[in-house]
Amino acid sequence: MLRTHTCGELTIKNIGQEVTLTGWVYRNREMGGLTFVDLRDRYGVTQLVFDANKDKALGEKAASLGREYVIRATGKVVERSNKNAKIATGEIEIIVSALEILNASKTPPFTLEEETDGGEEQRMKYRYLDLRRESLKNNMLNRHKVAKAVREYLDEKGFADIETPFLIKTTPEGARDFIVPSRVNQGEFYALPQSPQTFKQILMVAGFDRYYQIVRCFRDEDLRADRQPEFTQVDCEMSFVEQEDILQMFEGMTKYVFKKVRNLDLPTFPRMTYADAMKYYGNDKPDTRFGMLIHDITTAVKGKGFKVLDEAETVGAIAVTGASEYSRSQTDELVEFVKRPQIGAKGLIYVKYGADGSLKSSVDKFYTPEDLKKWADAAEAKPGDLILVVSGPASITRRALCELRLEMGTRLGLRKKDVYSPLWVIDFPLVEQDAESGRWMACHHPFTSWKKEDEHYFESGELAKIRANAYDMVINGVEIGGGSIRIHDRKNQEKMFTTIGLSKEEVEKKFAFILNAFEYGAPPHGGLAFGLDRFASMTIANEESIRDYIAFPKNNAGRDMMMDSPSTIDEAQLKELGIKVEIKQ
Ligand code: ASP
Repeated sequence: MLRTHTCGELTIKNIGQEVTLTGWVYRNREMGGLTFVDLRDRYGVTQLVFDANKDKALGEKAASLGREYVIRATGKVVERSNKNAKIATGEIEIIVSALEILNASKTPPFTLEEETDGGEEQRMKYRYLDLRRESLKNNMLNRHKVAKAVREYLDEKGFADIETPFLIKTTPEGARDFIVPSRVNQGEFYALPQSPQTFKQILMVAGFDRYYQIVRCFRDEDLRADRQPEFTQVDCEMSFVEQEDILQMFEGMTKYVFKKVRNLDLPTFPRMTYADAMKYYGNDKPDTRFGMLIHDITTAVKGKGFKVLDEAETVGAIAVTGASEYSRSQTDELVEFVKRPQIGAKGLIYVKYGADGSLKSSVDKFYTPEDLKKWADAAEAKPGDLILVVSGPASITRRALCELRLEMGTRLGLRKKDVYSPLWVIDFPLVEQDAESGRWMACHHPFTSWKKEDEHYFESGELAKIRANAYDMVINGVEIGGGSIRIHDRKNQEKMFTTIGLSKEEVEKKFAFILNAFEYGAPPHGGLAFGLDRFASMTIANEESIRDYIAFPKNNAGRDMMMDSPSTIDEAQLKELGIKVEIKQ
């Protein structure tokens, strides 16, 4: 080994020892003939001291070291007079007697401090430098701990890690596939898996009983902030189970990981139906760290001659605790907030429910304080609250109130970093109708089974009412994982394919293999998948963004800034593949 110790392990116990350290020059400063170098590696930082008064050549060499030079230094461990309690090695320093420069470094284009001056793109281009920063480095190492804890738990429960292929056929997770041309079979293409869904089900047919895989998935979706075209799933499947078995098993896994990685005990996960989540929180991944529930106040507001409300499909409200004294500019700001195109509400009505019980609204012309009291009751508001009211089509009203609730939760400091509020959202609808095409689509994916008691809605054509055996794990408003109990017989699988409008030919072309497999003794089975990137970011730091938890992420335009990919390929390669590229401007 080139070193005797790492930069993170020497303490007062090592005083007097002769040691050799290797690492990167983090900081370098001179003071009265002494050069101090903070030497950094993955394990920590150790202070090196070079004394030019004792060895001029050595002193000069040390003074010439640039930031991020890779060096090797030998010397004696001594107690520091000026101790640094913030770092593990803060009580000692090394009086260096020999210095070797292993490699020089250009000056980094941004500082590698926690508060870096590097822009997003720069940091992605020089990802290897960014990854030297303490927080990013720790994210990667903690992510490893999360993955390790996942493996420990699943291994202990008898799950076998089985690999599935990347060069496959289409997967029905609802996104677009990334396509890989086949050179040997010209004109034919592989698809990269959006998930190993069909393979893990087939592994159940094969009899493996409990499968898992920490696996990369690829989805060619329209780019949105914090969406990665490739991401990692903890993908799991079990045989001979019902929904309850899955919920127990993976609630257990999540608790185990939080305990292992953060030493946190999560509470029992409550269950909420999809219908309740939509009704009271406005979306299917409610942030339950705080209340401020959405209330439908449609019947309380109608019939007073105010057209906007009288003609609205729905009127909903939230009561914001202690905000009745909001100023005009503050309420105006909220009106603008809901009118943003992403939300698309026409406007916002508010009622100030004074601490003294007074009621004043932005539509006082139409409503008396007695009328407004009815609104307040319907919204479960208390004196001192600001009641925010949105009206219009149900979907827009719901979205606006959902966003407004989250915004007010943030403003009032209710979305606390040190609070974890996990839950299961259950009873998702099986299918939903696409607004544009009118086509029915699977809400989860078409292998999801439905509740027996809702079966009759197929015959009556009330497809939206059919509830699936599908579930999502949600923590603090973030979907961490989701899955379902699957269909495991050919007849029902065909029925589902027909329901979502697939023709016999399409089914035959895309899914014959799984329908065939279902005819050879498929056991009842179900499973789920966690997004590991998100699971790690939530576990480690209660953060929604995932980019800082992936070693080499893509930017918002789906580009790898470091490799500069995607990129064109040369003519010869295209020819070999039998592909002609025509670029539309
Ligand atoms: N394959 C699903 C997904 O990627 C998860 C599951 O149903 O197990 O969302």
